[in-house]
Amino acid sequence: MIKPLEIVVTNDDGISSPLLALLADVSKEFGNAAVIAPDRNWSATGHQKTLGRSMRADPAPPVAGVPAFACAHTPSDCSALAGLGFLDRKIDVVLSGVNPASNASRDITYSGTVTAALEATIWGIRAAAFSIDGFKGDFEENCALLRPYLKRAIRKFLDIALPPFTILNFNFPNPALLKEKEARFVVTKQGERIYHDELVKRIDPFGRPYYWFGGEMPSGDRMEGSDCGEIARGNISVTPIHLDLTAHELIEPLRKFDWR
Ligand code: MN
Repeated sequence: MIKPLEIVVTNDDGISSPLLALLADVSKEFGNAAVIAPDRNWSATGHQKTLGRSMRADPAPPVAGVPAFACAHTPSDCSALAGLGFLDRKIDVVLSGVNPASNASRDITYSGTVTAALEATIWGIRAAAFSIDGFKGDFEENCALLRPYLKRAIRKFLDIALPPFTILNFNFPNPALLKEKEARFVVTKQGERIYHDELVKRIDPFGRPYYWFGGEMPSGDRMEGSDCGEIARGNISVTPIHLDLTAHELIEPLRKFDWR
């Protein structure tokens, strides 16, 4: 008998996110799934690790029928727990998401969804991140549109042997585009995200200023073969991403530089 795949599902929106439940529900078709997810929203917290203090990860009500644990710490802590034997078994796969906004271009170092997947690779676990652009409107209808693509994404991901420290970052187009036409899976590279942040300064009741990063939501390029570009034209972006942030093209020029 073939041993079932041991799968851990996590996210950065917290254990109560309905899109975590969708991912858990689809994941259980592929093996023995468990949820280890943060007990609250940790969106845009990047690659963090809890050091120097204790961690809680308590049993929680099942998520879509999948046994679940709520962790009081970061998305990447959830992956590290999975990799370091929290469940008393070797985990084969970590699936992170589904984030209800895209994680494309330079979003990836902000993203708890993506960094949870990257963290899993440190512990030798195959991992993928899943996000959907502009997830608004009727939840059930949107889920019905997303589910078959999510299922296909996981099935295909499990067939691919990835090098160490490498994940696949899946971005689905917004549900309105999924409704319009059949989406294709397109392999992409990180595109150009355009941020429209504005620093908003306000004054508290005690006369002390406080700040918000306000402004419009980020937009992106519309290039063919870029992650933002393909989701904008209704395709599913699949970007291979690794933890090696070295700017390889600068190695040789910098070696020629006189460092004396
Ligand atoms: Mn999120």
